[in-house]
Order: sequence, then C-alpha cells, then structure tokens
Amino acid sequence: MSSRRAERVPAGSVPGYGPVWWSLGELRSISRDRRLVGVLVLWLLSIVASIVTGALNVTRGWTGLPFTIASIEFAATVYPPFIISVLLALWLGPVWGAVPIYLANVASGLASGLSLPMSAIFAFGGVTETLVLWGSLVVLRVDPDIRRLRDLFWSTAAALVASVTGSLAAILWNASHGLDPLSAQRVWRGWVIGDFMQILFVVLPVLHFAGPGIRAWFDRRFVAPPQREFSYTHGVGLIVVAFALLGLVVFLGVHQALGSIELAIDTRTVDGDLLIPKLREIILMMALLSTALTAATGMFSTALARMGERQRSEARRDTLTGCLNRRTFSDILHHEGDRGRRLGVGLGVLFVDLDHFKGVNDRLGHAVGDQVLVAVVGRMEGALRSTDLLFRWGGEEFVILMPHTKPAEIDLVAERLRAAVADSPLLPDVVAGGVRSTVSVGVATADSQTGDHSGVLDRADKACLRAKSEGRNRVVMA
Ligand code: GH3
Ligand code: MG
Ligand code: MG
Repeated sequence: MSSRRAERVPAGSVPGYGPVWWSLGELRSISRDRRLVGVLVLWLLSIVASIVTGALNVTRGWTGLPFTIASIEFAATVYPPFIISVLLALWLGPVWGAVPIYLANVASGLASGLSLPMSAIFAFGGVTETLVLWGSLVVLRVDPDIRRLRDLFWSTAAALVASVTGSLAAILWNASHGLDPLSAQRVWRGWVIGDFMQILFVVLPVLHFAGPGIRAWFDRRFVAPPQREFSYTHGVGLIVVAFALLGLVVFLGVHQALGSIELAIDTRTVDGDLLIPKLREIILMMALLSTALTAATGMFSTALARMGERQRSEARRDTLTGCLNRRTFSDILHHEGDRGRRLGVGLGVLFVDLDHFKGVNDRLGHAVGDQVLVAVVGRMEGALRSTDLLFRWGGEEFVILMPHTKPAEIDLVAERLRAAVADSPLLPDVVAGGVRSTVSVGVATADSQTGDHSGVLDRADKACLRAKSEGRNRVVMA
C-alpha cells in the first residue's frame, strides 16, 4: 500500500509541503559529483537566455502590447526572463531564480539606454517580484506541481501580488525614459497584466505538466536532500531587504519623475501656499512613513518569526536530549526512502536501547538517569556522520536513520557507536569510578532496489531484542 502511494506521488514532492529547494552552494561539490554538471549547464543556459530575451524585450518592443477584451483596452508585456526565473526558483531554489532575473533586468535597462548604476538598481524590482512569489508559495505550502484546486487558487493570488509588487519598478523606468503620462500608464499596466498573464498561462501549465518530470531530474542530480523548511527569521530578513531595495527603486523613480515636472517656481496652491515646498514636504512624509512602516513591520514580523521558529523546533525535538522526536521520523523516512530508491543507494536504520537503564534510575535516581541519557546522546552524535539523523523514540530508546549508506558502512558506524558509549564512564564525577552504560543495537537496511522501507524499523527493533537476549552491549544485523 505504501509503495502504491509512492508511485502516485511524483519524485521529490512530499504531500502537504510547498516547493523544496537547494542552496546554490551545492554546486561546490561538482568536482566530486559529475551529475551536477547537467544542472550547472542548464542553469548557465537559462541565464544566457534570460539576458538575451531581456534585451530583446527592449529592442523588439515587447512592452505594453495592446489588446482588447470586451471593448476594454489592455496592454501586456512579454518578458521571458520572468518566466525562466520563476520556474528556476520553484524547481531549484530562490537564488537560482534571482540571479537570471537580475542580470536580465540589468541587460534590458542597458539596452534601453539607462546608465549602468541606474540599471543595477532598477534590476532589483524583478528580484523582489520573484522572491515574493516564491516565498508566498512556500509559506502557503502550494504544491509546485499545481495538483490541487487550492494550489491553483493560491498561486493565482500570489501571482497577482507579485506582479503588482514587481511593476512598481515601472516608475523608475518611465521617469528615466521621460515618458509622457499616457505611455507611462501603458508601460505600467503592461507590466502588471503581462507578468500576471505569464504566470497564469505559461508558468502554471508548465509547472503542472512538465514539473514532475523536471523536478525528478533535478532531484536525481543532487546528493544532498533538498531543503523544505526555511528559517522564519531569515525569511523575514530576506523580505525586508527585498522591499527596501524595491523602495530604493521607487524612490529614485519618484525623484526623477518630479524632476521632469516643470513648474514655475512661484506656483501656488489654492490656499496660496508655495506648491514646490509643499510637494517636497508631502514626499518627505511619504518616505518617512514607508520607512517607519517597513521598519515596524520588519521588527514585528521578526519577533513573530522567532516565536514560530522556537515552537516549530520544539515540536520537532525532544526537550531533554535535543534529538529529533518520533513524530518527525515517518515523514523523513518516507522521503529518504523514496530518494534512496531513485538514486539506487541504500538506507540504514539502527534501533538503540540502553542496557539495564532501570537499574541506573533505581540506584542513582531519575535526575542522574536523565544526565546519562544526555551523555549517551552526546557519545552517539560523536560517532555518527553529519548526514545521519538521531531520533529519541521514547524513554531510553533511540532510532538512527542513515540515508545514502551501504550495508558495510552501516555496520561500521553501528559498532563505532556501541563502542563510543561503552568504552569510558559517561558521568565520571557522579560516583567513584563514574557511571557507565552500554547499548544494544539492532541494524536493518532498506532494499536499495525496491526502495521498500516499510518494515525496516520493525526489523531493526527485532534485531535489537536479539542483541538483548544474546547478552547486551552488542550490534546485531537483522
Ligand atoms: P534492558 O537492558 O532490557 O533494556 O533493561 P532496561 O532496564 O533498560 O529496560 P526497561 O525498558 O525495563 O527500562 C527502561 C527504563 O527507562 C524505565 C524508565 O524508568 C526509564 N526511563 C524512561 N524514560 C526516562 C527518562 O526520560 N529519564 C529517566 N531518568 N529514565 C527514563
Ligand atoms: Mg527499552
Ligand atoms: Mg533498556
């Protein structure tokens, strides 16, 4: 039954989770892992395509193309770099998408005659837009394959927000090019409607129809598992920075737009006040207000994010030992088992039970028992590799998940772990000679061919019981 479910769920996707992603830093392991070459080549090609089509948008006049629906006039802008960057962000990660849109915007800025510094600032508009869209889909846990109606609904809503956000950069564009109000309106409308339509009619269908295959292709090329939980605090920080940069773009735009208004120096308002100082005052107030709003929202969201972070971590971890808890196990096992099958690599599970632990409690008290548990976890962590995951299963029982591991290697780590606990006193100072403890370890592996991981924990548990009956302080393979 579980394998039937695994077939229906496309690779790399976990039901109930939003997009998963890898950090750009994974490319560093390219010299060891040739499979990543394909990813790098594809990404570089996407960057080139973004830059070229970003410049073509200007030279071919793909901005503000008019069309009419029911006698209402619309204008839409065709901007392929946006499509590329959103797809990359959703398939690989936010930075993978932010780089191409930034470079493409710089290119289109330059192609339109903006100076390099102005283009470099203008380009942040698109980055903000991509990050807002990606972040919304992660927070709303929208399935990147757009499989359910709710995915379609939320991605459409997020697309609208992102399009409006990104289109704010139009003010700098319009002012820099000295466009008359009517043309400026057309450009702005073109950006909102164009980006929204590109998401709706290009990005979403591509995600739905090509997404599962393409995401599986990427997933096979990374050894590291993808990330799917971001730090809320980092998320808030990123959004604040993105909006601050967008604010800079808008501010420069407003500044330029005002510079192009020609008013007689002594123009007055209806109340007889001088207009220009009045305008300056209004703009200053608006700038101060939005700065204060950004800062306040940032501080408030950071506080909330920290709180959420703590709660989430508490929900995943055991309070005494800091190990992952039982609740998080099945989700991770499911995902890692699936990856193991696709990559054709094994997965190991150890079941660890402390020997005669009740005796420690009885002789030295519960508090010392607790200290022993913490010390045993410390020893086990020292014996494990950074990729192994340690769970407290309950009481004095622990489960270790070893993704991406060959059976011989699992045996070796299990024996190292047993020795690390047994070899020297855990609490040297509590009683003369120190408090010692040992563990019994049961080992089982998931079949790397079928990827069948149902029952692997059961087999490890049974092997652990055998280790107990064979005399404790030993490792037994299922
Ligand atoms: P065996 O070698 O057969 O595993 O013997 P054992 O005494 O370890 O096994 P048993 O399951 O009978 O005892 C487990 C004990 O672990 C009982 C319980 O009091 C103790 N224990 C469970 N959770 C905690 C904890 O959080 N702190 C402390 N101090 N003791 C705990
Ligand atoms: Mg036990
Ligand atoms: Mg025990």
